[in-house]
Amino acid sequence: MAKLADKQELFSHPDDVYVGECVIYTGYINKRGYGQKHISRKPHYAHRIAYCEANGISLDSIKDLVVRHKCDNPSCVNPDHLIIGTVADNNRDRSRRGRNSYPDRSGEKNGMAKLKECDVICIRREYVRGSVGNGLRSLAKRYGVSTTMIADIVNHRNWSNVSEV
Ligand SMILES: [Zn+2]
Repeated sequence: MAKLADKQELFSHPDDVYVGECVIYTGYINKRGYGQKHISRKPHYAHRIAYCEANGISLDSIKDLVVRHKCDNPSCVNPDHLIIGTVADNNRDRSRRGRNSYPDRSGEKNGMAKLKECDVICIRREYVRGSVGNGLRSLAKRYGVSTTMIADIVNHRNWSNVSEV
C-alpha cells in the first residue's frame, strides 16, 4: 500500500501517472513509431483510435486535439496511458521531456527543413483564407517561408505525412 507521501508525489506529475503495461499496436507502425490504421482510406493514428474507442467518441470529435502518451511510448494503444490535450500541451510536454526532435523526420527531410512539423500543424490551424493577419502572406512572413509554401501546406499539397499526433 502506497504511503501518503508517495501518492502526493504521484499527483504532482499527473501526466505521467498511468496504470498497467503498454499495449503495443500490432498493425502498421510508422517511421516515428506511431501505430497507424486506415479508416475510409485515410490514415489515422492507432492511439487516437484507441482513445476514441475507449471513450465512446468519434475521431472527428477530437480532430482539433492531440492524444498524448503518458508512457511516452508512441506505439502504445493502452487507453489508460493516453491523455487528451491541446497542441500547446503537447509541445510543452515534448520540451519537458527533451524530445523536441525525432530521429526520423520524413517531412522535414524533404527540402522544407525550415519548418518543423509542429509549425505545419500551427500554420494549418492559424490560416484564415483572405485574412490580413492570418492569410498566406502574413503566415509566410511569420514563419519566414514563401507564400507558395504556406499555400502548399494549407492545401495539404505538401507535408501530407504530417497529421496531428
Ligand atoms: Zn503505454
